[in-house]
Amino acid sequence: MTRRFLAIGECMVELAPEQGASYKLGFAGDTFNTAWYARQLTEPEALKVGYFSAVGSDDLSRQMADFMCAAGIEPHLAKVQESGPGLYMIQLKDGERSFQYWRSTSAARHLADDLDRFPSIVYGDVVYFSGITAAILPELRRVELLGRLAELSNAGAQVVFDPNLRPHLWPDAETMTRWTMTAAAIADIVLPSHEDEAAHFGDVSSDATAQRYIENGATLVVVKNGPDPVVVQASDGDRFQYQPAVLDKVVDTTAAGDAFNAAFLADYLQHSRLRDAVRAGCVLARHVVSHKGALIPVSQLGLINDRARFSA
Ligand code: AMP
Repeated sequence: MTRRFLAIGECMVELAPEQGASYKLGFAGDTFNTAWYARQLTEPEALKVGYFSAVGSDDLSRQMADFMCAAGIEPHLAKVQESGPGLYMIQLKDGERSFQYWRSTSAARHLADDLDRFPSIVYGDVVYFSGITAAILPELRRVELLGRLAELSNAGAQVVFDPNLRPHLWPDAETMTRWTMTAAAIADIVLPSHEDEAAHFGDVSSDATAQRYIENGATLVVVKNGPDPVVVQASDGDRFQYQPAVLDKVVDTTAAGDAFNAAFLADYLQHSRLRDAVRAGCVLARHVVSHKGALIPVSQLGLINDRARFSA
């Protein structure tokens, strides 16, 4: 049976520095990165990976859709007239990367204008979204999207949420934390990063982060924490830590959490063995942080074991 993995959010145009004064054009964005890695890790006949968003009618938007198709990701993209994709530029200063964004008027802000274009989601399918997905939407559309996701969860789909707290996308901290907990409350699986959660919710430990989301209604919480142990807590009482193999020389942490989520979900949804799935997440994330850029072809990594692949 082919399952569907539908990620919802904003894919942006990326400008990354190359030699001299040149910049390389690419496409990336948190939920898109997870979809891209999920596609890399699974067979198309076992998992149909789709991306639900909105783009403009300009040439860059067309290139973005082509990029998704070439990567094997089914685009579910509304067309917004007189709009275009969000853009971010990576700048290098003394070896440190910084990011500048132009996304306040991006077409993706209209992704939830018409929820009738949602593909059919059935029992066992996976719907993935993040705090960034929620943050970029006007409030009414956010409410409507969360309502639809709650219906899908009730109908047996697995709704997965990465809080990905980004204060600059929200009017203020209270609004961000309130909506984060509202969005998490409809998710079955929550995949937060402790560093962000500590900064904005004041959690004293990864255990505290996990406990807060379990009390908020999640069935399963997996808390990432950079090189420190991943903490896993399930509502049935299962609870453990997993120490990733630490990489001392981190090259670039971009998309580490997104990649972790993809490898964790790819493994867990197939085998339902939590410890192996957390290990798969750590293996991929460790390799992503040892390379520059968000999207590192998995074939170049060569370390994802067969267990991280779906089989039909
Ligand atoms: P983060 O979102 O920063 O908490 O990181 C996501 C995941 O990336 C972690 O759960 C680890 O699996 C991996 N990771 C981050 N930093 C390192 C590191 N220095 N060494 C090994 N793995 C890392």
